[in-house]
Amino acid sequence: MHDGRTTLTQFIIEEQRRVAGATGDFSGLLNDIATACKVISNAVSKGALAGTLGVHGGDGGAVNIQGETQKKLDVISNDVMIKTSLWSGHLSGMASEEMDDIIPIPAQYPRGKYLMTFDPLDGSSNIDVNITVGTIFSILKSPNPGAEAKLEDFLQPGVEQVCAGFALYGPSTVMVLTTGNGTNAFTLDHDIGEFILTHAQMTIPTETSEFAINASNERFWEPPVKRYVSECLAGKEGPRGRDFNMRWIASLVAETYRILTRGGCFMYPMDEKTRAKGGRLRLLYEANPISFIIEQAGGLSTTGRARVMEVTPTDIHQRVAFMFGSKSEVERIAAYHQEYISGSEPEAFQSPLFSARSLFRTQ
Ligand code: ZN
Repeated sequence: MHDGRTTLTQFIIEEQRRVAGATGDFSGLLNDIATACKVISNAVSKGALAGTLGVHGGDGGAVNIQGETQKKLDVISNDVMIKTSLWSGHLSGMASEEMDDIIPIPAQYPRGKYLMTFDPLDGSSNIDVNITVGTIFSILKSPNPGAEAKLEDFLQPGVEQVCAGFALYGPSTVMVLTTGNGTNAFTLDHDIGEFILTHAQMTIPTETSEFAINASNERFWEPPVKRYVSECLAGKEGPRGRDFNMRWIASLVAETYRILTRGGCFMYPMDEKTRAKGGRLRLLYEANPISFIIEQAGGLSTTGRARVMEVTPTDIHQRVAFMFGSKSEVERIAAYHQEYISGSEPEAFQSPLFSARSLFRTQ
């Protein structure tokens, strides 16, 4: 206790006591992650002063497996996440959005019973313009505790997660965490270097009039998404009978935190641009951990075809369509997809105008 305040460390230990048979392993692992996030927060906050902005590796820059140019801070954050968690004996392996292959635990260290997947610096294209970024992580139980992790060990659906969280490097540094017993947020107190519980049992408002989508992709959207957005845009005079606001930060962690605090929904739906890849966002590093946090705060998440956390991954870098947020809106979005798939949507949305390639249709 610090002046009657609950620190992240204290919170984790008390959570662990509630779980029969839990050992100190889990709190040790979360402490490692919290430490890594403090180090990354510090590096991010230095901005241009640290000389780490801009493209890594000179002119063209190193390009990661997802085909994106890596910034130096991505590389730093990835190294920090690995080095902080590698040696302590809690993990049997890791997988990072930034790396092609899984990350084994070197032979000189003990192997533990958990697996960790992470996105070391989500939203990193926003770094140069000083917009909020973050670190996302997900913890699974290893099917072979104590053994060297294999790639297949990571291919578990999101419902198997034992913990998920993200650190947000914004005006304040915040750690959002769930262990399946609600979603809680902790704000970093720089004076004492500790995360302090500031948002206990976060609850996403069920109703909302705010949605987030990259509208420049409209011509690539599927009919159910065009239908949902067009109804929102029609406002008071339309079928929804009220006006909506639109937001787009293009930083998943920032969008998630806004939705956790005041409701709303986020959509990166299946579209014709990303269909071949399966979607835009990554299941293991982004969609699963965010879905766990959102559901634990009373929200919902869907691919449009299924609950995100019930998708069984076939590859560690798999992508999915990802829509989440306030319960009533996500239910509506999922229902529109269902009607589209079963062919029972209103006639107006079956017209060529709303079909997938309407603009390029000649008949
Ligand atoms: Zn990301």
